[in-house]
Amino acid sequence: MIKVLGYAAKHSYSRLKRIQFEREEARANEIEIEVLFCGVCHSDIHQVKNEWSNTVYPCVPGHEIVGRVTNVGPGGTRHEVGDLVGVGCMIESCRHCDPCQSGDQNYCEGPNAWLATYNGPMVPAAKALNGGNMYGRDNTFGGYSDVMVVNEDFALKIPTNLKPEVAAPILCAGATTYSPLKHWGVKAGDNVGVIGFGGLGDMACKIAKAMGAQVTVFTTTSQKLEEAKRLGISGVLESDKDAMKEMKSSFDFMLSTIPEKHDINPFIELLKRDRTLCIVGALEPMAGVDNSAVAFHRKRVAGSLIGNLADTQEVLDFCAKHGIGPDIEIIDIQDVNDAFKKVEKGDVRFRYVIDMASLKRDESA
Ligand code: ZN
Ligand code: ZN
Repeated sequence: MIKVLGYAAKHSYSRLKRIQFEREEARANEIEIEVLFCGVCHSDIHQVKNEWSNTVYPCVPGHEIVGRVTNVGPGGTRHEVGDLVGVGCMIESCRHCDPCQSGDQNYCEGPNAWLATYNGPMVPAAKALNGGNMYGRDNTFGGYSDVMVVNEDFALKIPTNLKPEVAAPILCAGATTYSPLKHWGVKAGDNVGVIGFGGLGDMACKIAKAMGAQVTVFTTTSQKLEEAKRLGISGVLESDKDAMKEMKSSFDFMLSTIPEKHDINPFIELLKRDRTLCIVGALEPMAGVDNSAVAFHRKRVAGSLIGNLADTQEVLDFCAKHGIGPDIEIIDIQDVNDAFKKVEKGDVRFRYVIDMASLKRDESA
């Protein structure tokens, strides 16, 4: 067994604290990774606080992981010791269902869905079986730790010209926004609206712009308008009724990145006929959609969940090629509870990334 240091929440109301636990050494086709950086995703907060009612404690969050391969288990061929690799939201799927066979592991229809990097299978019933599910475990521990052990197929290659700390948030925030932009065929010249300008919104704007689209970001915070301008995109205040009216029926695609339920009806108005508004930020019942606005112009309201493995590799390569990445602020693990509070308040546009070397300092303290 490998001794691992991490940060965990023991209850839905507790702060993250240092924890020691063990991971099994790499089995066939698995790799061991020394974690260098891990991004702080809004879903880490949802999970730690049990806001999706499926959290198993202790909860070690973290699914935007970049690290170095330190050991390759028997039969492993995909990565070598010393390689820089990334792990996103999933570490296994059933591999046999139709979505898995077509490369959409993130939409796995196996009995336990895909295995989440932390907090175990995505299906609550599978957890209740207490280890009796197909993955043989009812909880998993994520990247707020110094060692990960994962199947090699679920580790992505980090391009050499991408800094590891910048690559980390691309594994979730990048994949989550790239996948729908690609799926709905966003192309050069398209008019794309991004709703919300936090960690996901930041990536969505940069990726859509690099695809050649005209990008407008919608925010409730006037200070974020300045930040949009700096990125070379136009920003609009959601409360600016005149501006909203002017943009009626003008967008080819809209992506909502707000991490909680909100009124999407004003944005449906902004779509052209036959176009799609996709929600990626919120995983909960949404406020009532006015179907007359949808039906009268044959519009679509859709959802999309993270990205499959191919999309995740693609977005890493895409960001490296276009020289884009999330705006990040590097923090020590000891500051993660404060970072959670700021992300919850919604006033950060950049992504916090934890420098996992700080865990060792914790030990010596
Ligand atoms: Zn995430
Ligand atoms: Zn499957």
